[in-house]
Amino acid sequence: MTDVTKSSQVSGFYKLKPTERLALVKQHANLNDEEVILLQNTGSLALDLADRMVENVIGAFPVPLGIAVNFLINKKDYLIPMAIEEPSVIAAASYAAKMTRDGGGIQTISTKPVMIGQIQTVDIKDPYNARMQVLLAKNEILRKANEQDPVLVDAGGGALDLDAKVIDTTEGPMLITELHVDCRDAMGANAVNTMNEAVAPMIEHITGGRVLLRIISNLATKRLARASCKVPKESVGGEKVVDGIVKASAFAAADPYRAATHNKGIMNGTIAVIIATGNDHRAIEAGAHAYAARTGKYTSLSTWEKDPKGDLVGTLELPMAVGLIGGAVKTHPVARTAIKILGVKSANEFAEVCTAVGLAQNLAALRALAHEGIQRGHMALHARNIAITAGATDEQAEVIAAKMVEERKIRVDRAKELLDRYKTSGKI
Ligand code: NAD
Repeated sequence: MTDVTKSSQVSGFYKLKPTERLALVKQHANLNDEEVILLQNTGSLALDLADRMVENVIGAFPVPLGIAVNFLINKKDYLIPMAIEEPSVIAAASYAAKMTRDGGGIQTISTKPVMIGQIQTVDIKDPYNARMQVLLAKNEILRKANEQDPVLVDAGGGALDLDAKVIDTTEGPMLITELHVDCRDAMGANAVNTMNEAVAPMIEHITGGRVLLRIISNLATKRLARASCKVPKESVGGEKVVDGIVKASAFAAADPYRAATHNKGIMNGTIAVIIATGNDHRAIEAGAHAYAARTGKYTSLSTWEKDPKGDLVGTLELPMAVGLIGGAVKTHPVARTAIKILGVKSANEFAEVCTAVGLAQNLAALRALAHEGIQRGHMALHARNIAITAGATDEQAEVIAAKMVEERKIRVDRAKELLDRYKTSGKI
């Protein structure tokens, strides 16, 4: 048990070595030697590397890494590394990917990898005029921003555009200047924040106001990835299942309580890939949910419809601030290997794959949900057929089928056993 009299105020904790910190924690929490060894075993993430990645490190936290199979995206086959603690997710993704293959796989597209950096200016007497002055100084501001990151500019990216808006707040009007930065293969937060900070004095000078926050927005509406698929009705389980999925989708679109869970199912797939590749999953989650509420009402991120032939068609659109360089992507050895397994060549391709996995995961969840209800009827029918196959008359089949559904054991051998018992004793 933790001794509550021990203080958590530990000065200089950050200066200690990981082993020294662990010794301190051991004493504080009365850890035994086995527990200490558990924390010391950092596996494929060396302790000194972990210590360089974040602060106050004492160990590492392993998460299972699995591979979702069957993914065909834009006619290219992918093995999908997924890091997740929740059972069934990887199996469901693989199963849904197989269904989408029957319709030619998943198609994807994406916008340029443009992130938005926000610069907040307060204490402006004439905010609308200030806005106009910022817009007039656009080229100058963009030049200053791009001077900060010649590497990004050389890679074909950089600050492309600028916008400005006056917002009303409880603290009065504020001018929000927004830099639009093409981040190429980086997630871009550091790159954009650096640009924001560099142009802030210019904006103060132009507006006569005071700049406060200078930070990237995670609502990445200019960096979208889109995925779609068509699943033949036979592959998804028939017309009733298609109808069930379409109705489930309509439920999520109309009701935020359902939409939250519907979107969580999408994130099950997307975030598992994001974690496996060392990307920032909070950025993706924040962006996705904010995007789902962009009209003012929180709704579903995907759509599922029935096409004129009765097949199922699904679409998903997500803001996708992902990178192949920067952050932990290049430093974490497992993340690097996961990127190699995926075989993606650009952040755009990676963003599209993450979205395709989200779409497949959504399909798997909806099919299971919509099918479960339908399945009851199906099971009774199926059980009756099995009982008849075992030699039961119509009247006997009713009784035996009901028992098998109740037991969830719908097999000919069980039907035969039940039939024998019914024939000899008149009951089962
Ligand atoms: P970074 O700064 O490590 O790497 C990006 C840099 O790599 C670019 O600025 C560029 O100079 C260089 N580069 C080289 N080749 C490139 C190419 N082909 N394409 C693009 N850039 C290239 O990382 P980052 O992506 O700017 O920042 C990501 C990190 O920021 C993540 O760890 C994230 O967690 C963190 N972060 C996030 C937030 C947020 O989401 N709100 C805020 C702060 C920090």
